[in-house]
Amino acid sequence: MGSYRIGVLYGDGIGPEVVAASVQVGEAACRACGLAVDWVELPVGLSAYRSVGSTLPASTVEELERCDGWVLGPVSHHVYDVLRPEMANPSGMLRKRFDLYANVRPARAFPGVPTAYPGVDMVVVRENTEGFYADRNVLDGNGELRIDADTVVSVRVVTRRACRRIAEFAFQLARERAARRAAGKGPGAGRPARVTAVHKANVLRRGDGLFLECCREVAQRYPDVAFDDAHVDAMALFLVQKPQAYDVLVTTNLFGDILSDEAAGLVGGLGLAPSLNVGSERAMAQAVHGSAPDIAGRNVANPVAEILSVAMLFAWLGQRHDDQAARRAAALMEEAVERVLAEGRVRTPDLGGGATTSDFARAVQAALPGG
Ligand code: NAD
Repeated sequence: MGSYRIGVLYGDGIGPEVVAASVQVGEAACRACGLAVDWVELPVGLSAYRSVGSTLPASTVEELERCDGWVLGPVSHHVYDVLRPEMANPSGMLRKRFDLYANVRPARAFPGVPTAYPGVDMVVVRENTEGFYADRNVLDGNGELRIDADTVVSVRVVTRRACRRIAEFAFQLARERAARRAAGKGPGAGRPARVTAVHKANVLRRGDGLFLECCREVAQRYPDVAFDDAHVDAMALFLVQKPQAYDVLVTTNLFGDILSDEAAGLVGGLGLAPSLNVGSERAMAQAVHGSAPDIAGRNVANPVAEILSVAMLFAWLGQRHDDQAARRAAALMEEAVERVLAEGRVRTPDLGGGATTSDFARAVQAALPGG
């Protein structure tokens, strides 16, 4: 059994509220499993800019190098001047700096949470290091160029290496998910593994053509996983028409960002959508949602997405270190969230309830063994 160092980066807007809730539940789950975790608070975002002059201080990055993983709250980067180095978007910079190449974004229907789509259980695997994301797709500078006052050119980067490894990740994940279902863990017992590559290769012939070619190539090595592909515009439709049909969607950076919000909307909203950014050495827990300035500071944000993101981090640590206690902590957190959602007595306003963020965190903590 390991002992872990986990960074805590609160972020902006609702970040401090939902991250505090996720750490509270994470700590309680660790106590219940005898898992030793050192939670290390590190400055990031607008508060770090005000106190030390940078939204991503070098000292924070150095500390993260000594961490096994971390949780990052959402940041309000629409107000950052990202062309100034001291106002970098921490989310993009950390993904790039630590090569967190796979953004894993599950969307599933929770028993007891109203949805028009019961039975949805899918995951969007989003390439996280290149594509259209101008703040991280070049080594130096920025992938958006303003040629003159009225002309902007955006550079999109697609590499064989990144396409191959994200495809490999998606097929591996599909295999693991099918194995879990076969073992009776989670819904959809017996459902076969399936990967669907989402692209726009009919128009973006070269970039998405390369992405699709790599997915097809990797598919050859996974004969046990069904493979198909779809254009992203059609997929936006299929997700609304028949989301239960999908298992693992693998796609490029921008499409993955958009489709994962859509998928979250099918099962109850962004408050329920967790994600993990995975590299070969480290992982970063980070809810799909942004800093929600419209509800920030009122203690009403739904912390489920952030709590489940931390659970995903523990599951990843458990797999990486073959650590039963970390796996157990992840499972306990998930089960406790599911129980509180299913009971329906404590719900945040986005789900039609009147509970606060802190009420919900306390209820989840109470649903843990020894809570
Ligand atoms: P958003 O995700 O912050 O909010 C969209 C809607 O969902 C809002 O109505 C909000 O109230 C609601 N919502 C989001 N999270 C919720 C939660 N946990 N509980 C209840 N309701 C929730 O998206 P936006 O408004 O487009 O962006 C706001 C800011 O967040 C911008 O600065 C954007 O750049 C940033 N952003 C950051 C990240 C990140 O750091 N990972 C991701 C997306 C957007």
